[in-house]
Amino acid sequence: TTPLSEINKIHASLTSTFLASLSSTKPSSTAVPYPLLSLPYRQHQLLQLARLVQENADALCESLWIDEGKPRQEVVMAEIGAVIGRALKGAKELESWVGGGAEIGEDVKLEAWQEAWKARVEKKAKGVVLIISPWNYPIILTFQPLCGAIAAGCPALIKPSEVVPTFSKLLAELVPKYLDPAAYRVALGGVPEITRILELKWAHIFYTGNGRVARIISAAAAKHLTPMTLELGGKSPVIIDGANLGGEELVVAARRVMWGKVNNAGQICVAPDYVLIEPSYIPQFISACRVALESFFPNGALNSLDYGRIVSEAHFSRIKGLLRDTKGRVVIGGGVLDGSEGQEGARARGIEPTVVVLATAADDVLLQDELFAPILPIVPVASVAAALEYVRAHEHPLVIYAFTESDDVKGEVKAGTMSGNVVFNDTFNQLSVDEIPFGGVGESGYGRQPLKYTFEEFVYSRSVLEVPFSEEPKFGGRYPPSSKETLDF
Ligand code: NAD
Repeated sequence: TTPLSEINKIHASLTSTFLASLSSTKPSSTAVPYPLLSLPYRQHQLLQLARLVQENADALCESLWIDEGKPRQEVVMAEIGAVIGRALKGAKELESWVGGGAEIGEDVKLEAWQEAWKARVEKKAKGVVLIISPWNYPIILTFQPLCGAIAAGCPALIKPSEVVPTFSKLLAELVPKYLDPAAYRVALGGVPEITRILELKWAHIFYTGNGRVARIISAAAAKHLTPMTLELGGKSPVIIDGANLGGEELVVAARRVMWGKVNNAGQICVAPDYVLIEPSYIPQFISACRVALESFFPNGALNSLDYGRIVSEAHFSRIKGLLRDTKGRVVIGGGVLDGSEGQEGARARGIEPTVVVLATAADDVLLQDELFAPILPIVPVASVAAALEYVRAHEHPLVIYAFTESDDVKGEVKAGTMSGNVVFNDTFNQLSVDEIPFGGVGESGYGRQPLKYTFEEFVYSRSVLEVPFSEEPKFGGRYPPSSKETLDF
């Protein structure tokens, strides 16, 4: 844990780095031979970040195995590979994001009567920023925002989650070995530390986590008028349009939904939360879910090293409570490790992938809060139109998944709902696409990532206008006293 007295010092040191970058073009140190926060400096730090993750991939995977019981394949696929790829891409694309050239920014073409003036828009670093990351995908959800801050030229304090202490401690050891400690620091701790951190003035706060804490952080940010990015969660629905799917497509749909649900044992912000489907397709869909799970985990999910665990005792008992209190019918799974299986630490907190059929879309405990669990409720609806009505009646989700081969239905889903993303015929895969922005709307948050979109969160557009003295003859009419001529339209 970072001592509270240290937090103000870190803030002061990052602030002096930022101020020094505005007034000096000297190389920052022998270790980083480029002017502080300059373009080549930022490119170098992005490459260093890629190196950090690549050279320590094993230790990072190991830390999440200890803290969360998370399978290595999931960490490599969803976190390690993506961070390395995006840090390298960021270093390559950075010049085009800022406008490129020796003078950063872009010239703007003006109206004919202003053509002698010079106007530019420059993407400028906001200043010293704060990144607060959660436990569920801590590698990518820490480093992806950090890539944006580095690219933008913002010094950053990173506050990883106390829920994953082995990972957070490793992060605090690795960051100063690879990145310039003058500009990038890690603070460890929980509520007392974050509370102290939030008393200080930051130029931007990038928070990934739940909506309850987002409100606490937003209130603290408001005291300093600090702008924010909020990457939150919610209940992301899956609409299965059985009438417009062939038998084989329904099977693939079930496999893709179950894959989205079993990843990290359902603890993903974009997990398919629940399924809306017409009753006549439910039996076929359930048997396809069963086939998918048997193919993923032939010896049972809870016996497989490829299946994750629940992060904490608190979440474990919350999820057991959901299984106890639902009025739905468990049709697949329902198994829970009870300590008699000899699995230890995080690996002892296992919940089997579970499918529950609800009688109606009326209230059930599974339809209240974001599940964040490997439980998939199936909710019968009369039609796709009824499914859209249900989605519209609830908070805007991070993502809507819809499985259909009908262009008309795709159009209805897009026109008839609001969400951060819409994905047709797959789950989770939107996160692998670098070119489209990811983020929420309403209760699922605001702001976007990755790459250029994250960079944009940490910069502001500064316009620069230069009006030549030689334009003075044009301005005669703007100075008082007024005349009839200047008052006439
Ligand atoms: P968490 O408990 O690790 O909390 C996230 C951060 O908030 C941590 O750094 C923690 O220290 C800090 N925090 C906790 N309590 C606080 C308090 N009282 N005051 C100030 N800061 C506090 O993670 P979590 O919130 O359980 O994460 C899961 C949530 O995050 C889910 O709702 C999920 O949907 C969402 N999520 C969103 C995205 C996205 O990109 N949109 C990604 C992952 C997770």
